[in-house]
Amino acid sequence: MDNFVVSARKYRPQNFNTVVGQAHITTTLKNAIRQQQLAHAFLFCGPRGVGKTTCARILAKTINCTQPTAEGEACNTCNSCVSFDAGTSLNIHELDAASNNSVDDIRELVEQIRFSPQAGKYKVYIIDEVHMLSASAFNAFLKTLEEPPAHAIFILATTEKHKILPTILSRCQIFDFKRITQQDTVDHLMEIAEKEHISAEKAALQLIAQKSEGCMRDSLSILDKLVSFTGGQVTYQNTLEHLNVLDEDYYFQFHELLQKEDLSGVMLLFDEINKKGFEGELVLNGFASFYRNLLLSKDPATASILEVMEGMQEKFAKIAAQTETSFILSALNIVGEAEIQIRMARNKRLLVEMALIKLNFLKQAIELSNDQQTLVKKKRLDTPILLKQVPIVSFQPPNIKKGTEEGAQLVIQTPSTPSTPPKSPPAKTISPAAPPATYTPKTGDKKNLLSALREKYGNEYQIEEVTESLVLTPEKLHECWNLYIANLEKELKHSSAASFSTAKLQIENEVKFTVTVFSVTSQKFIDAEKMSLLDHLQHCFHNRSVNYEILVQASEKEDIPAYLRMNTKQKFEYIANLYPMVKTLKDTLNLELD
Ligand SMILES: [Zn+2]
Repeated sequence: MDNFVVSARKYRPQNFNTVVGQAHITTTLKNAIRQQQLAHAFLFCGPRGVGKTTCARILAKTINCTQPTAEGEACNTCNSCVSFDAGTSLNIHELDAASNNSVDDIRELVEQIRFSPQAGKYKVYIIDEVHMLSASAFNAFLKTLEEPPAHAIFILATTEKHKILPTILSRCQIFDFKRITQQDTVDHLMEIAEKEHISAEKAALQLIAQKSEGCMRDSLSILDKLVSFTGGQVTYQNTLEHLNVLDEDYYFQFHELLQKEDLSGVMLLFDEINKKGFEGELVLNGFASFYRNLLLSKDPATASILEVMEGMQEKFAKIAAQTETSFILSALNIVGEAEIQIRMARNKRLLVEMALIKLNFLKQAIELSNDQQTLVKKKRLDTPILLKQVPIVSFQPPNIKKGTEEGAQLVIQTPSTPSTPPKSPPAKTISPAAPPATYTPKTGDKKNLLSALREKYGNEYQIEEVTESLVLTPEKLHECWNLYIANLEKELKHSSAASFSTAKLQIENEVKFTVTVFSVTSQKFIDAEKMSLLDHLQHCFHNRSVNYEILVQASEKEDIPAYLRMNTKQKFEYIANLYPMVKTLKDTLNLELD
């Protein structure tokens, strides 16, 4: 065991068949080689450590092999294959674009491409991390990629396909490498362990596969380290310790305690984990994936995408069946929030503890909200709630009485649920539940009722006396008009007051009258007062409909120049008469008056 080297290098696949988890790619490549329909440029995309470079090297070896197998694999025995395996072949050139991404690097490469291989058929150029090439380097390369010499084959590899220029993409045959599944990784690791006579527990290998997240290179190097640390005895326990992974079992324990709402148990368990050196962040991450797994286990269909230790599926399924989905979802929420907050938190331990406390009382919280929901539902089902309707009371136009001061009308409407037609009002007592009523009390009754209502409802309702509107009568109108004149005098608006005084009033109907003035000037003075005059009039008659119209009866003697009273057409004719050129101008230019 002393000079043990598992390593990615030693177990790097030597032919297409031994490439793990990329059968869709290796099959296509083998077919292309067999049928001699090889493209000149390939683009290998996919996550790191899934076999892109490995496949590129196998491809280079296979197409240069002098005695390929019928299946399309390299023989591994001919001179070319041997030199490839020894890493001495001159037909393969690897460029890591991450570190050699300048124009000069590419120019050097392009320079080499011109020379045909001394032995073998093809020269293969592998450009790794091709997305790292600078824009100018890309351009320098593009021309060669467009017209490659017959002996040159390019294999571009990248983890970030979206960063590759479309001009490059369109010139390459594209292969998308898949993330290696946990099962494939475990199988591969077991095979290696067997060959190397390493005793490795399957659970340990599953843990390694989990930790390496589909990257075969990582899983191999983890196994490498573990073997050297443990002297070839890879157990679940020492793998946990080495990888700093918290045993899944802890989360099952947590879950059990949380379901029992055993807060002290939860806190003690977290303390135990903390003492082992597991940070809060790691615990939260573990919690999140635990609840995710639990949620997936709720449904046998989604349970199949679970990537857990052997035998864990059943355990998850059992616990999932006993746990409400609402609990799992809410727990995921709490843990997710805490995961975000912990990055900024000063006291990380406290933050995790707070999350644990929330989780501990989560069951109660959910039950409480469920209770409230059922309560609300019951209430709704027991008695149907009628839509609130305000009954439509037939509109009664104000009783127009010839200017008399006779009584105002009192209109009371009380809201109530059923929309019964307005009935005759019940005596004098009006409760909010009583049917709506248009209550027209007899004179004399009014004051008592009003005060009774005020007493009864106080400030609840605004009880206002609706004063009856008055119609226009000459006496009232003049009284009102003169009052306005008096106000104008008070404001020292003597010209206005004079205009008002000379105006002649004529009542048209109950709400409208005309104001006849004898000069445009007077009209202007009255117009200037329009808003306040209307307000004054409407107030006088308690009637918002009161309105007036101004008529101008201009006298011949008026000292206002005639042109001021002309409209546009008259003005034009007047000017055209004086200056005939104006008319010619209008006609020539086809102008119009506006
Ligand atoms: Zn060979």
